[in-house]
Amino acid sequence: MKNRVIVTGGAGYIGSHTAVELAQSGYTPVLLDNFSNSTPAALDGLREILGFEPEFEQVDCADKSALFAAMEHIASRGTVEGIIHFAAFKAVGESTQEPLKYYANNVASTVHLLEAAAHFNLTEFVFSSSCTVYGQPEHIPVDEEAPIRRAESPYGYTKQACERILADFCASGYPMKAALLRYFNPIGAHPSSKIGELPLGHPNNLIPYLTQAAAGLRDPLTVFGNDYPTPDGTCIRDYIHVMDLARAHVAALQWLKNQPPTCEPFNLGTGQGNSVLEVIQAFERATGVAVPHAIGARRPGDVTAIFADATKAQNVLGWTSEKTLEEALLDAWNWQQALNN
Ligand code: UDP
Repeated sequence: MKNRVIVTGGAGYIGSHTAVELAQSGYTPVLLDNFSNSTPAALDGLREILGFEPEFEQVDCADKSALFAAMEHIASRGTVEGIIHFAAFKAVGESTQEPLKYYANNVASTVHLLEAAAHFNLTEFVFSSSCTVYGQPEHIPVDEEAPIRRAESPYGYTKQACERILADFCASGYPMKAALLRYFNPIGAHPSSKIGELPLGHPNNLIPYLTQAAAGLRDPLTVFGNDYPTPDGTCIRDYIHVMDLARAHVAALQWLKNQPPTCEPFNLGTGQGNSVLEVIQAFERATGVAVPHAIGARRPGDVTAIFADATKAQNVLGWTSEKTLEEALLDAWNWQQALNN
């Protein structure tokens, strides 16, 4: 197997889609996951898309000895090019209730993976970060020069902490090359509807809740506040198709290959902001299905508006998002229907 790349959280939402893009770009994804927020069904979907059984290790990256044992096993089967690290807890609300769970898992996993990288002489690392590191930015669109601000949640602080840890490690003398990929709002699913986002339990994010409400599986969607200082009063976000995001990870890996030791942040978004009401309208246009919804109270911690200036990713990585909001919402809806069946 050539160009093997470790993908932690490989059974998860963005990890599984990235595995597809890796395989299509001549890499061989080696998946790690502990199924803490995913299921083996994602691996079945992946096998169907890829046409082969991806290498997989069931392991918790926060368990250092288990991680090193898995890495030994992987290394015994051939060389590894790099690591893409997705495995992390990501529920903002839960992180305020159980902050220690978030710090223990997200920070320890990253530290252990870097220790493993050093032990196995791996020098390319792509980190799954978030625009949450910017808090409520002073200027939008937000570029990578914007200051790291007070995070809105312990989850946000784990992303800031891991970025800091990576920057320090890259400056320590070990020849590490890292890309910090700051995602805006990933949505949608692989067009085959064989993999997608699988929120276990009550979905907190807009799109999985919206598709479940449209399918009649949930109460009407609550629009969290319509008294924000935006044109229609609802919050504005930058919704990016998960396959576009997946492609950016491949671009980052290819770019890192020819770099000296570095630690570079990149914003990954479309560059366009849409309000919650605009998303509902776009969904109805794309699918012809009505979204039952009602205006409710603001959700604590929500920033009013954020969307990306992704010029750096375009100039440096040669990457730009291609799919429209409607395409992403249609793929999300098709995935929801596949789940129903
Ligand atoms: N949102 C909403 N109702 C929901 C879930 C989310 O109105 O049931 C809004 C939320 O206030 C925010 C946007 O949708 O303005 C995106 O929220 P999400 O949780 O998906 O992402 P994030 O807050 O991390 O940007």
